[in-house]
Amino acid sequence: MASLLIQNGRVIDPSQQMDRIANLLVVDGRVAALDVQPGGEQTIIDASGKIVCPGLIDMHVHLREPGREEDETIETGTAAALAGGFTSIACMPNTEPTIDSQGVVDFIRHQAAQADHCNVFVVACVSKGREGKELAEIGQLVKAGAVAFSDDGSPIYSPELMRRAFEYCLMFDKPVLNHSEIRELTEHGVMHEGLTSLILGLSGMPAAAEDVMASRDIALAEATGGRFHLMHVSTAGSVDAVRRAKRRGVRVTTEVTPHHFTLTDECLRSFDSNYKMNPPLRGREHVEAVIAGLADGTIDVIATDHAPHAKEKKMQELDQAPFGVVGLETALGLVVTKLIKPGHLDWSTTIQKMTLNPARILGISKGTLAVGADADITIINPEVRWKVDPAEFRSKSTNSPFCGWELTGRAEIVIVAGRVKYKRG
Ligand SMILES: [Zn+2]
Ligand SMILES: [Zn+2]
Repeated sequence: MASLLIQNGRVIDPSQQMDRIANLLVVDGRVAALDVQPGGEQTIIDASGKIVCPGLIDMHVHLREPGREEDETIETGTAAALAGGFTSIACMPNTEPTIDSQGVVDFIRHQAAQADHCNVFVVACVSKGREGKELAEIGQLVKAGAVAFSDDGSPIYSPELMRRAFEYCLMFDKPVLNHSEIRELTEHGVMHEGLTSLILGLSGMPAAAEDVMASRDIALAEATGGRFHLMHVSTAGSVDAVRRAKRRGVRVTTEVTPHHFTLTDECLRSFDSNYKMNPPLRGREHVEAVIAGLADGTIDVIATDHAPHAKEKKMQELDQAPFGVVGLETALGLVVTKLIKPGHLDWSTTIQKMTLNPARILGISKGTLAVGADADITIINPEVRWKVDPAEFRSKSTNSPFCGWELTGRAEIVIVAGRVKYKRG
């Protein structure tokens, strides 16, 4: 029996309302006991001064394989996830081919097993080919292992398709994840529409483009009883729409990315394409609204929307460059530096939004250190200060807006199924 004792760490596990110094024993890939003393044949990890929590989960990652291996592969993306402290990720279906058949789901699971870094859960297409016309074979995809459905990269545009997606997914108790955006309002846009876009003379993407479709999706979820997850929420209006819908008992959840609670549209003054993403960086009032939404529980999850793009693509002019930034290796540091240190969130609430909540939404048996659970564990140094250097990323791409930032907090040891998969050197 392979056993591992993680000693003297501050164990924070929101699934058990636990936050105290404890020893955690792992045997044969599972959490075996708490508060045991060392003895026998054990590998010991000293976690004094560290936080020991369930392995972090990122429910919004673009791995790019199959089809765009110049940006990222399942190998490099899952290695980047580990370095960021994540033991499980959910990958998005806007690959080439798209994830709309059992064959592609099998391929991804096979590549993830070969890479042998972190767990990969598959989000499959809502529509065949992500074309927004015909519903994908939801039942078959669930059977193949898909945990949720989305056409991310694009919105699920047709309200009729969205309604049927809710109804179908409900039969399997799966959530529908939407990139809610009215495209007629954002066409040719490169940044948030506001004073800054006006001054810079850049075409804008109004907050209303998100507000309108998020409200539509909430209405359809309410009408069908379906489960709606609003991806990368970025506006004050949609945070408020989710807040009000939750009060009415609508089955809606949402996530925010680190860049949306950290940066504003002012960053575009640099004309640097590493500030170009969709949804775009918003104005200060929207950033404050998402932080308030995190604090009051409206926003359930912190997810990265890790969107790698090879350098030559991002080096184009701002209007030509693709949307998106990498996020796996900076998320935890940004969360600590921008949410925990300033007092917006405490550790337990933060960890819940990066473990238990995404696990519940995806219906996966992760995000807990309860006895018997898979020993997926992240050990965090909460005080270490470090500088973001994209040259050190495990990701194949370096399109980060946080280059050179000084952050506090980082994953030091990452354990998947009882095996130490990552150790910061
Ligand atoms: Zn999206
Ligand atoms: Zn995305």
